[in-house]
Formats: sequence, C-alpha cells, structure tokens
Amino acid sequence: MAETSREIPKPLPEITPVTQPFWEAAANGKLVMQHCSDCQSWVWCPRPACVECGSEKLQWTQVSGRGKVFAFTVIREVVGRALRGFAKDIPYVTAWIDLEEGPRICSNVVGCPIEKVAIGMAVDVVFEEAGPGIFLPKFKPRL
Ligand SMILES: [Zn+2]
Repeated sequence: MAETSREIPKPLPEITPVTQPFWEAAANGKLVMQHCSDCQSWVWCPRPACVECGSEKLQWTQVSGRGKVFAFTVIREVVGRALRGFAKDIPYVTAWIDLEEGPRICSNVVGCPIEKVAIGMAVDVVFEEAGPGIFLPKFKPRL
C-alpha cells in the first residue's frame, strides 16, 4: 500500500469526568459551558475549578451558540503524521469565536467558502460527528 493511500484518522478528544457533560450535551446538539456560581465567570475550557476565583461550584449551562468570528486562519497544509487525518479537509478555517455570552472558543468555520470568512462575521454553532457519539461544535455563517 502506498504511503499516501493509508487512512489516518483524525485524533478524537479525550473524554474525562470533567469534560463528559460537555460531550453529552454536544451529542444532543447543545453547547454548554461551565459557569461559576460564586463569581459568575464563564469557564472555558472545562476545568475542575474556576480560573478566576478557584471555586469548584461550576454549573454546566447552555449557551446560545451564537457568536462572531474574532480571528481566523486558513489551514492549507498539515505537517506531521499525527495531523495527516486533516489533509482531506484542506483548505479549512480554524477560528476563535466570541460567543454572545462572552466566552471565546476555538473551532472551525464550516458551511461557506473560505474566502467568505471574515472577522466579525456572525456565526451559529452546528455539531459535526467526529467519531462514534462524539460531536464537535463548529460554526457556520448566520443566515
Ligand atoms: Zn469563579
């Protein structure tokens, strides 16, 4: 078998007790994040304690999934064996999305030509199945 024809899967997220509620919600089409009951901060990525005040009183809370592109880059090449699974997606957009509630999440912008992606573009979350029962939040332009 030729080197280029070998199928290399994309790496999948490691689901831990801390992140499990996030992945369960994503599988149900809901974007949730931790919200601190003590200082009212959003905590993203999932953690066992609040990054602002150290409280462990974190509540998984659904967010709107509505946001705007804060920054983005177009991936045109993958380097290294571990990332080769992404080669078939090239070119694709990796972006920081500012959610209406405040948190900033790194994801992909999908569902539009890459030349249409712009800073400040309004986007909505969509979920793409990346593996059995694993759904990744991605963002498409708001219609
Ligand atoms: Zn806090």
